Amino acid sequence: MVWETIRKDTAPYVTPNLTDYDRARAEFTWSRARSALAGLPGGGLNIAHEAVDRHVHSGGGGKFALCCVARDGAVHTVSYAELARRTARFANVLRALGVGRGDRVFTLLGRCPELYTAVLGTLKNTSVLCPLFSAFGPDPVEQRLRLGDARVLVTTAALYRRKVAERRASLPGLAHVVIVGPGGEDLPGTARFDELMDEAPEEFTIPPTSPEDMALLHFTSGTTGTPKGAVHVHEAVVAHHATAAYALDLHPEDVYWCTADPGWVTGMSYGIIAPLVHGATVVVDEGDYDTRRWYRILQEQRVSVWYTAPTALRMLMRSTPRQGSHALPASYDLSRLRFIASVGEPLNPEAVVWGRDVLGLPVHDNWWQTETGCIMIANFAACEIRPGSMGRPLPGVEAAVLTCGENGRALVTDGRVRVEDRPGAEGELALRPGWPSMFRGYLHDKERYEASFADGWYLTGDLVSRDADGWFWFVGRADDVIKSAGHLIGPFEVESALMEHDAVAEAGVIGRPDPVAGNLVKAFVSLRPGIEPSPALERDLLAFARRRLGPAVAPRELAFDQNLPKTRSGKVMRRVLRARELDLPTGDLSTLEGSA
Ligand code: ATP
Ligand code: MG
Repeated sequence: MVWETIRKDTAPYVTPNLTDYDRARAEFTWSRARSALAGLPGGGLNIAHEAVDRHVHSGGGGKFALCCVARDGAVHTVSYAELARRTARFANVLRALGVGRGDRVFTLLGRCPELYTAVLGTLKNTSVLCPLFSAFGPDPVEQRLRLGDARVLVTTAALYRRKVAERRASLPGLAHVVIVGPGGEDLPGTARFDELMDEAPEEFTIPPTSPEDMALLHFTSGTTGTPKGAVHVHEAVVAHHATAAYALDLHPEDVYWCTADPGWVTGMSYGIIAPLVHGATVVVDEGDYDTRRWYRILQEQRVSVWYTAPTALRMLMRSTPRQGSHALPASYDLSRLRFIASVGEPLNPEAVVWGRDVLGLPVHDNWWQTETGCIMIANFAACEIRPGSMGRPLPGVEAAVLTCGENGRALVTDGRVRVEDRPGAEGELALRPGWPSMFRGYLHDKERYEASFADGWYLTGDLVSRDADGWFWFVGRADDVIKSAGHLIGPFEVESALMEHDAVAEAGVIGRPDPVAGNLVKAFVSLRPGIEPSPALERDLLAFARRRLGPAVAPRELAFDQNLPKTRSGKVMRRVLRARELDLPTGDLSTLEGSA
């Protein structure tokens, strides 16, 4: 597929060294990136100090750290100085409860100011923060509390009643439940956030923190199997800061908004930590997913950088009819917005072109994982964007394509792997370990952690190719790739081709075993509003895909499905489509949307 190149117009913010990618890479070292941070006064490195207290010490306390937009649209702001006081109080709350270094504090909260207080206060106290997604059902909540050795849970009365109360007896390690917001005064075995905070002093000295101290525990999205608990340390903040400068072009003057739920790694690394370390103002949207609300917030809060996910962009596209497509966005003033960044799953070229044509904005895809802790590969602010490509490795990141074996994973022979140097060759994406936010292990699963490395590389489980100029292109997850009549087919390419059809909103593509071809490609598509499924449309879509992709890659079968199974972070769960199609057990569904 050849896509025209989109160049960013000359925007007011161009990080100077980004204009020369090679120079930026040559000059970059992680130790230099580390020296851009303050460090604790007595030595050591603590994420919360970098995110909050440092700004207060350097006179920036009056600036807005958070700009919270309540469900009803009311806005209230929290300054850096106020956030410093609140997080100090929460650290004192934990200390008074006897919760200390390394103890696990879980949050089960939507986006609300208390979440920021709990996260950063926990880090100040050198305890470990583990965020849970508030829409999880009781089983996934219990499973993670148990797996993560939860000592404290910060949640609301409603969430506690619905998801934890009945299981509390089976979680003896869960010593404290702290209830945020109204209600729940009658709940046994809980304490009130507000009362504890009122009693706590607002002076707190962060204890010595080693960069290697565990800071965060993040469960993966569970797209391909049981979620894994990835362990991250305080040193990760070096990577959050540096990568947000490159990939998100963040500056202290920015009003920045990240739509990712705080229960996922994006909502933590780039929803809380990175923008605060940069001293930006963070928009906290307490409302629901709603495209009109998004446009309104972008306009009213004068958002300058928006970090979101392909699923959100597809929702925007879907809610904007093709005909007269300028109508909705044009009624909002998005002139403050410099660009949109996207992460989490493949960003279809269609969405990038839509962003340019309809919103008049560059859309930057970035690639990373819970395990990597920070953005690794991206279309950067001042770089040429290649729609459909994830971009190029950030400074400090060494990425390679490794030759794969039959199972779609890197071929390891006598402990050695082979690096593909032919442009366009597909293989497993591998990264050279050593960046600060690299996960330090999967909790309680040493074997799985060790199996993620070979011959000095971290193996990502994703298949990619690299073009002659060094841009990386996503092919698929090793688990999702389809082997059909001798070809390796990435579902993403097929899904993207289908999405170019005017009738299609989203697509999920799987391989269905076939005695002749090995597997044949089957597509599930959801349609745009107002479009009805029909045999004629099915034939039309199959023919459309065949023209685009050729008969070897195009789907042979197609089914309409308005409710494609997705993770709560918005990723199409192809393994669920496959299991349903083949009548197989669907496996771990704890992160399936709507499964609560
Ligand atoms: P699990 O590991 O539990 O199966 P998961 O891999 O979806 O779940 P995350 O760590 O949240 O959990 O997601 C990282 C994965 O998301 C990447 O390995 C990749 O497959 C996909 N991904 C992230 N960003 C992109 C992108 N820009 N393009 C394509 N895929 C992406
Ligand atoms: Mg993964």
